Amino acid sequence: MDLGIAGKRALVCASSKGLGRGCAEALAEAGVDLVMNARGAEALEAAAADIRARFDVSVTTVAADIVSEAGRAEVLEAAGAVDILVTNAGGPPPGLWSDWYREDFIGALDANMLTPIALMSALMPGMIDRGWGRVVNITSQSVKAPIPQLGLSNAARTGLTGYVAGTARQVAPHGVVVNNLQPGIHATDRAVSLDGGVAQAQGISMEDAKAQREATIPARRYGTAAEFGQTCAFLCSQHAGFIIGQNILLDGGATNATM
Ligand code: NAD
Repeated sequence: MDLGIAGKRALVCASSKGLGRGCAEALAEAGVDLVMNARGAEALEAAAADIRARFDVSVTTVAADIVSEAGRAEVLEAAGAVDILVTNAGGPPPGLWSDWYREDFIGALDANMLTPIALMSALMPGMIDRGWGRVVNITSQSVKAPIPQLGLSNAARTGLTGYVAGTARQVAPHGVVVNNLQPGIHATDRAVSLDGGVAQAQGISMEDAKAQREATIPARRYGTAAEFGQTCAFLCSQHAGFIIGQNILLDGGATNATM
């Protein structure tokens, strides 16, 4: 399918690895020029070189912490006017409700709610002026069904989701389409780190922890960054103009809900 976005320009945050990289690759495949960001320069440059070699698009890289004000300013400066924004950053650590204090919540809110809001605030006015824009926020299945040990994530991402629900409807008349993608378990470094937490807590091997988590997914496997990226690219496409303020669950059926 031609997504109709060749020649557009996208900022994809936290995209040297994992889900962000899946999104960057799928957009590049659709002919979108990229501004890629991640914290570590080495992995970022390697990812950018790989994408340049495989797709006929330009790739600008900015190694910076997107959650810090200085890092975000650097990324926005390099990005300039973009048509497409994919927000992403690392997720908060797991724990127990009684482990978390004000500063832990502030950290989670900064990373997973206020950073995507700051990026949308900075970039959507230009999209509105040009009459076309796409925003995809990478959130989590934990917004639809809480994951108890990820209370910081549940809280921060639900806040972002509430903001998007209203804002998406305010910018839609100007051709700007904002949606959230809710990943369930995907085979990325984050999944390996959560497998490690399960293995440690239960005194089992990493393989057993993974098998245990796969058994909870009707598709009986973890998702891939590539299939996640393709869904993101579709939401950024010309075909997605009537999908406004939605939360799309990509979880292999793990969330047991009718809607
Ligand atoms: P990952 O750990 O595999 O990817 C990390 C990428 O994000 C790297 O490129 C890293 O440099 C970059 N990054 C992290 N923090 C950053 C920051 N502050 N500034 C700039 N770059 C940053 O993670 P992932 O599995 O791809 O997950 C992406 C998001 O989706 C996370 O918020 C995660 O919590 C959430 N999520 C993931 C899963 C999953 O199963 N993988 C499930 C639900 C939610």
